[in-house]
Amino acid sequence: MLRVAVVGSGPSGVYTAQSLVEQTRVPDVRVHVLDRLPCPYGLVRYGVAPDHEKIKSLQNNLRTVLEHERIGFVGNVEIGANGLTPERLLELYHAVVYCVGAARDRRLGVPGEDLPGSWSATDFVSWYSAHPDAVENGFGVTLGAARSAVVIGVGNVAVDVARILARGPEELHPTDVPQAALGALAASRVRTVHMVGRRGPSQAKFTTKELRELGAMPRARVEVEPADLALDPAYADPAGLPAVNRRNVEVVRAWAEGALREAAPDADAAAGDGRSRIIRVRFFLRPAEVLERDGRVAGVRFERTVPDGSGGVRGTGAYEDIEAQLVLRAVGYRGVPLAGLPFDPARGTVPHAAGRVLRDGAPSPGEYVAGWIKRGPTGVIGTNRPCAKETATSLLDDAPLLARRPVADDPLVTLRAWGHRPVEWPGWLSIEQAEATLGRTLGRGPVKIADWPGLLRAAESA
Ligand code: NAP
Repeated sequence: MLRVAVVGSGPSGVYTAQSLVEQTRVPDVRVHVLDRLPCPYGLVRYGVAPDHEKIKSLQNNLRTVLEHERIGFVGNVEIGANGLTPERLLELYHAVVYCVGAARDRRLGVPGEDLPGSWSATDFVSWYSAHPDAVENGFGVTLGAARSAVVIGVGNVAVDVARILARGPEELHPTDVPQAALGALAASRVRTVHMVGRRGPSQAKFTTKELRELGAMPRARVEVEPADLALDPAYADPAGLPAVNRRNVEVVRAWAEGALREAAPDADAAAGDGRSRIIRVRFFLRPAEVLERDGRVAGVRFERTVPDGSGGVRGTGAYEDIEAQLVLRAVGYRGVPLAGLPFDPARGTVPHAAGRVLRDGAPSPGEYVAGWIKRGPTGVIGTNRPCAKETATSLLDDAPLLARRPVADDPLVTLRAWGHRPVEWPGWLSIEQAEATLGRTLGRGPVKIADWPGLLRAAESA
């Protein structure tokens, strides 16, 4: 028997576990999928936007994998806590695959980015996704007072948070947003959301389906600034661009043409067609400073940029201020080091060769990585499949050597002896049940429990 721990139960962890058990080359591989949280599914539960029901429903596929007879979910076990180092984990398992993602947001590095009213989009997403480590932080108060928000970045996270800010309460009510966040979003007075990229539309990171969705919202209309677009050399003729970039430019162009025809300059004018919220998509503006008034965010000063001819941009020395009482920085995630594992701070990943962790340049026996901590925070959920497969293949190639090392008979007994309180699959199922019950009492579908004690209480009632 080969005992494997997969650390992290997001898509990359679950796909890795699946690749390990759904093969015939190495018989009897047993996998524990460990997670710091008592709930599985990683960013599918805590990152995919609540109004993306179709992507959320991927949880059903992940569930089928976690219910496999040779896979066990072991939640509420944190690597690093109770002396559980990577080294000690190898006393329990023949191999460990780290699928711990990229937990932090990248920083802008401009003055004012930590002012009250300025947050990373990751914090905002965690809050409305009911992550038990999320802190309310004042989102409710800010949303209740702000009229205008700036979202920095033009990737899919920026699109997600811009869309959630522009949704009406009736659109969010059917989702699993926790009750407190639903109340705060429903009471939001934000009417204009500026989503701002430092490069052009042909270089934006969002995917076209997500971009298009912004234009199909019942309460919001999208505006683009023709002067921004004209700066993009590929805007006039996007034919030579890769397909996704070309389609993005086509969507933006359609909006620009609509905007030129309709010229609705502000939220009040837009209210005429029932869409009282505006999403302004801007380009070629790079953040220089988050502006302050009375100790809070008052806006963002951007420097106008122009293409530098090699895919980047250069500043022009001209500045534009956009007023906002809420700023969300959606400029990407970064991996965080795990004590006891090597880490490349420049890339924010664990050094590896085909998924084998490298220590001082040589593969470390029994240690592997997959997902964002292996390749960086890029790609969509499906990108994790081939990534996980590559790592599983390396591990299975190494299996004859790995299986020779003796390991603990029952890792769970040892984990408990070391002070952990693992939440197993029945515990998770009772959290799900508690969330369904909570939803019923609120007249909603399942509503997520947003705090640690609540989750652990629910798990213990299994
Ligand atoms: P991302 O795709 O890397 O986008 C980051 C954005 O921030 C880019 O526009 C980038 O501009 C900009 N940026 C970076 N540093 C900046 C700075 N200092 N100043 C101004 N702008 C800056 O990151 P993400 O949006 O966090 O998404 C992470 C991954 O999750 C992506 O692979 C994404 O597709 C995926 N995701 C997918 C979905 C979905 O499928 N629905 C939803 C959410 C996330 P430059 O290009 O100029 O660097």
